[in-house]
Amino acid sequence: MGRLIFLGAPGAGKGTQAKTISDCFNIPHISTGDMLRFSVAQQTPLGVKAKAYMDKGELVPDALVIDLIRERLGHPDAQSGWILDGFPRTVVQAQFLDDLLLEISQVYDLAINFDVPDDVLVERLLGRGRNDDTEDVIRRRLEVYHEQTSPLIDFYRARQKLVNVDGNVSMEEVSIELKQVIKKG
Ligand code: AMP
Repeated sequence: MGRLIFLGAPGAGKGTQAKTISDCFNIPHISTGDMLRFSVAQQTPLGVKAKAYMDKGELVPDALVIDLIRERLGHPDAQSGWILDGFPRTVVQAQFLDDLLLEISQVYDLAINFDVPDDVLVERLLGRGRNDDTEDVIRRRLEVYHEQTSPLIDFYRARQKLVNVDGNVSMEEVSIELKQVIKKG
């Protein structure tokens, strides 16, 4: 069970859990958010373009993240497994991923949706204090999630790949449930 898509709103705990699972199952944690923040810090052409969207809580255009993922999934360390955290985030990206995996003869095992109520997400994000986490930006990121990303729950349900995990319990409890879900496949 080595190819996993983590779905969920910002603040749902995807990144934290992805780190644990990545260590536990020895598969790379691929976070488009981390890759974009790195590009912003390096002031690469991609970073300069992406920053304007990220600062407002908007999604970066599909074409930019699609290129990142195509490149990353081609690396040797991603050939026998991966966790995608924060990608796909739109139906266009999810369709691209299906096409790319077909092209490189891979399949995902599960799309795991971390379920957390909005009010809890806002609390968590305000507490986290990352510099893209001001209250207005947080609210916009949640709106964007509901408009553009939450349709992916149905997308993966229709492909019979969706599993829901209750993300509104302690980090340790989420980890335990997650490991069971992944082992069961
Ligand atoms: P994250 O750390 O996953 O919350 O991502 C931080 C920000 O990076 C998001 O608010 C978006 O602006 C951008 N981003 C990350 N992943 C994607 C993606 N798959 N598609 C578009 N924008 C993304």
